[in-house]
Amino acid sequence: MSGVALDPKTAPTFPMAAKVLVGDTQMRKNVRHATDIIQAKRARVVGEMPDWQELRETGRRVREHTMKFLDVYLEEFERKCTAAGGVVHWAKDADEARQIVIGLVKASGSHEVIKIKSMTTEEIQLNKALEGAGITPYETDLAELIIQLGGDQPSHIVVPALHKNRQQIREIFKREMNLPNLGDTPQDLADAARLFLRKKFLTVKTGVSGANFLIAETGGVCVVESEGNGRMCLTLPETLITIAGIDKVVPRLADLEVLLQLLPRSATGERMNPYNSIWNGVDPRGVDGPKAFHIVLMDNARTKVLEDSEGRQTLNCIRCGACQNACPVYRQTGGHAYGSVYAGPIGAILTPQLQEMHYAQTLPYASSLCGACYEVCPVKINIPEVLVHLRNRVVEQKGFFDPEAAAMKTVGMIFRSERRFRAAQRFGRMAETPLVDKDGWIGWLPGLLGGWTQVRDLREMPKETFRDWWEKRGGAS
Ligand code: SF4
Repeated sequence: MSGVALDPKTAPTFPMAAKVLVGDTQMRKNVRHATDIIQAKRARVVGEMPDWQELRETGRRVREHTMKFLDVYLEEFERKCTAAGGVVHWAKDADEARQIVIGLVKASGSHEVIKIKSMTTEEIQLNKALEGAGITPYETDLAELIIQLGGDQPSHIVVPALHKNRQQIREIFKREMNLPNLGDTPQDLADAARLFLRKKFLTVKTGVSGANFLIAETGGVCVVESEGNGRMCLTLPETLITIAGIDKVVPRLADLEVLLQLLPRSATGERMNPYNSIWNGVDPRGVDGPKAFHIVLMDNARTKVLEDSEGRQTLNCIRCGACQNACPVYRQTGGHAYGSVYAGPIGAILTPQLQEMHYAQTLPYASSLCGACYEVCPVKINIPEVLVHLRNRVVEQKGFFDPEAAAMKTVGMIFRSERRFRAAQRFGRMAETPLVDKDGWIGWLPGLLGGWTQVRDLREMPKETFRDWWEKRGGAS
């Protein structure tokens, strides 16, 4: 899938992409290895916190409260940010956001930008739009740099190059940085990236960042990261342009006390992110940091998600990626199968809601509903509940003529009548007879039902139903 844009409008469906990707044994090995390590680290640092469940509950409450009063907090953020010298722009969708950013970069007089890792800019495919406008973006996060130089796509929201191993990264650096003698230790690779990026940090005049949180109370913007490259992008350029989904707002600075404990532990198994940057507008003395600061607040269907009382909890997400690491489906297919920059369980609920549903109808089914994602989510998003809700919407959208919807409606009709239910049981026993082998198992079913027996056998129906057994013992029917 390298180089293919992760765009739900053009990507193959999840089952089609997954079928291809599960054949990539190297990718699966890389994903399993990386997610095993992160999960073990996460379990260790979460285990140190006796109040972890209380913290999760507080995190949930902060996010739910924010979504309830989102308009109030966004307006407060705009007021405070403007008072601190920032310029706030509102974008209703991805196209508007791209145009605003391109206009601002051009106005800054630069044909290059240094970028901090940002899923929001991935969501709107900003790099492609910048390049189309004659502006060269340079990713400065190590993993994003690997993706950019390799002509690849991110496969994880926290560790975008998680599907690559060290040897593969070395090959990309050797080729793209013209370093034929590059070693293969983590130190060698980090040094190569550092040298490559240093020149960009010192010469490019415009920076583009995402945001982890927007603080309404102060008008501040918070970015957390592990490498310090992000901080270079935030402080060295003359113009800084930040783009954030409107769901990134939190009411008070004090809320970060909770969220900055939950996020790093869930994301990478760290007690704290090595670099936590919070900036408010511009320095009034003009001596420190960028001279111009712009923030683009993007809706891009988030208010539509907010309207849905069951789906809205999706917006509570703080993008830690823990649900991806825990998901047995993601761990087999990797991120590219989801056809969107948001992969794994969060992608399976976020993408169908941000897009028109018909572009992502298979994603709510990309889950075994085992609940592992819900268990690790630091803000207690009930992902299985949202998945089932979205499956309902898919079935409603397809209408009666969809085979699955028709089958479900027929089963519903049978279940509503005892007489019909007993008749169906009798018919089922008769119909299965030629398919049952001598051990009492069915290894092949015809038509649509064959999907079940492709990978597992089915036990024959019992000769005596529970109802018959119950009535024989004098139980009321
Ligand atoms: S849904 Fe929860 S676990 Fe998944 S990325 Fe968002 S906050 Fe993290």
